[in-house]
Amino acid sequence: MMRVFQHQSLVASLVAFVFACGLSMGATHQVKDSETFYSISRMYSVSVNNLMSSNGFKDPTTLKVGQKLTIPPKGLKVPSKVTRTYRPAPKSLRVIVDAGHGGRDRGASWGGVRESDLNLRVARRVEVSLKAKGYPVTMIRRSDVFVSLTGRAKIANKYRNAIYVSIHFNATENTGVRGAETFYVGKKGSYLAKSIQNELVSNLKVRNRGYQYRRYSVLRYTACPAVLVECGFISNSYERSRCKTSSYQAAAAKSIVAGIERYDRAY
Ligand SMILES: [Zn+2]
Repeated sequence: MMRVFQHQSLVASLVAFVFACGLSMGATHQVKDSETFYSISRMYSVSVNNLMSSNGFKDPTTLKVGQKLTIPPKGLKVPSKVTRTYRPAPKSLRVIVDAGHGGRDRGASWGGVRESDLNLRVARRVEVSLKAKGYPVTMIRRSDVFVSLTGRAKIANKYRNAIYVSIHFNATENTGVRGAETFYVGKKGSYLAKSIQNELVSNLKVRNRGYQYRRYSVLRYTACPAVLVECGFISNSYERSRCKTSSYQAAAAKSIVAGIERYDRAY
């Protein structure tokens, strides 16, 4: 194929044109000893990914001598299973995601479970999910670091058209207490709290402790609608065993995101 391109420019142009139109099946190449996807891709000036996906390969090490590969036309990309080009419509509402506590402030600590860790795990899931839906997200923390309450509010107060969602797990001396609850300040905060609380209760099948007005510092200092979500009691052995699983954390994150979306559509 290369010789045709080099010596017969008119034929080459025609072939290139047909390739570009997607009318041709493309050239084929029989794999020789010591050849790899990389070496073959260099030979035909196509990308390894394009070459692999055109031939239905996921693992480059499964290439065998004697196999016939279809050489994709240059620049004509075969979409892979993961559609990397998908972009959701950008949303205007910014979500400030606050994983409660962190660093020297571990929050509640029961049965080897640290609240600050759980908060962060759920928060990271919320971040990924919100971004996939087109929401601009600001994370108060992404690792095990300490951020003061006023420091958190300061980050939040840089933004207009934002909501603040602080993620926590609960604990109390009475180990029989369990369930999820959400706190808020402000009128819009109450709508957001209600929306998230409803999702938590229906998705997690937890006791509904309701949503309530509470002037927690982290809520008070923020200018935007703000809520504090308590996803479950780690002081209760039954809930603690659930809370530490990734499936529970994923479901909590999903509920928080669903609550935010519902709020965003309504207000
Ligand atoms: Zn907490």
